[in-house]
Amino acid sequence: MTPKKKVEFLIIGQGLAGSLLGWRLIQQGHSVLLLDPCLTHTASRTAAGLINPVTGKRLVKTDHVEQYLTAAKELYAELANFFGLTFLHEREQVRLFQSEAELNQWNKRKNQAEYAPFLAERFNAKDKKYLKETSLGGFKQQQCAYLDTVALLDHLRDFFLHQGCFIKAQIDLSELNISSSSVEWHDHTADKIIFCDGYHLQYNPWFSWLPLQPVQGDILTLKTDQPLPNEIVQFGKWLLPLANGQLKLGASWQWQPLDEKPNEKAALDLLDACYPYFPHLRQAQRLEHNVGIRPGTRDKQPFLGQHPEQSNLLVFNGFGSKGSLLIPWHAERFLRYLTHAEPLPTSADINRYTHDYFTR
Ligand SMILES: Cc1cc2nc3c(=O)[nH]c(=O)nc-3n(C[C@H](O)[C@H](O)[C@H](O)COP(=O)(O)OP(=O)(O)OC[C@H]3O[C@@H](n4cnc5c(N)ncnc54)[C@H](O)[C@@H]3O)c2cc1C
Repeated sequence: MTPKKKVEFLIIGQGLAGSLLGWRLIQQGHSVLLLDPCLTHTASRTAAGLINPVTGKRLVKTDHVEQYLTAAKELYAELANFFGLTFLHEREQVRLFQSEAELNQWNKRKNQAEYAPFLAERFNAKDKKYLKETSLGGFKQQQCAYLDTVALLDHLRDFFLHQGCFIKAQIDLSELNISSSSVEWHDHTADKIIFCDGYHLQYNPWFSWLPLQPVQGDILTLKTDQPLPNEIVQFGKWLLPLANGQLKLGASWQWQPLDEKPNEKAALDLLDACYPYFPHLRQAQRLEHNVGIRPGTRDKQPFLGQHPEQSNLLVFNGFGSKGSLLIPWHAERFLRYLTHAEPLPTSADINRYTHDYFTR
């Protein structure tokens, strides 16, 4: 019998979570094997990759956003340096007031010191060609960016292939042979298996008890021969201008059904929301209509940690709608947890749920 090929970590899923964790483990000299079926409609490949520190109707700053931004900029710069290509594009962003209540909320936030690095000046209707005279105007947001996730994942997949640590496969989890000391899959054996399987976690026999709240979303890619704004524009929905007259328009939120099928009604809603500002987009050509499922969680915090009863089964998942921002910092913390037994951040540690499901 041929001996099994041995690695330290078997990673299920080459989305943003599996890829960035795999990259960091390899950089630290660890052996990994990544498995992924190379589908196009995953969350990571559908996402526009926006990084936006202050979001929602109430203009709330993401907790610890400063440390997440630092880690994200560092890791995407390291990858840009390695591959000779920029993946993280810093962009000015504006947000258009949708109501007096939003304007009042902005006035409140402007006086809160911790918001100062992220919220810039207000502008009026006359300052933007795409605003009507009656509009309430909007404000500039700072430290915003978008990540070209498809280019990044393609480059990382090529890198993993060249390292001999990637196999195209949708694994049937019942094929895993798990003992207390190892995990076997076909002719491979690993010390530990890490599930970075996105919303598929809900079907995972070891981790389906975690309260995942998956949300499907549609994004359109359009092309126009008319001028586009230079900045990302938020108006309840968002418009992301790209090169060569192309733009992305997103995103919808659909809790049911989770069928990964493009929803034409959602696409029309996106277009209807943007026409009041950009009427010329009625003539734009629709290049793509993509759909994916965000791996959201009940408490909006990621899922990191090991199975309470089988310590060689681990999860690195639950990055919701903020993967581009959250994954780099959490990958670093997870790496230290795996390799130096450092504690996980309590907000992300799945221990917060184990007492609900397991008695020790
Ligand atoms: C419409 C939409 C818009 C979004 N917009 C943004 C945004 O602007 N900014 C932002 O930061 N985030 C955004 N997100 C969220 C972002 O995409 C996620 O946070 C992030 O991509 C999650 O990455 P992941 O690797 O955990 O999951 P995924 O990208 O879903 O990757 C999981 C991978 O695991 C693989 N897999 C699953 N089961 C198996 C198996 N049994 N065997 C092998 N492989 C398996 C899947 O094929 C997949 O490749 C958006 C998501 C959607 C859907």
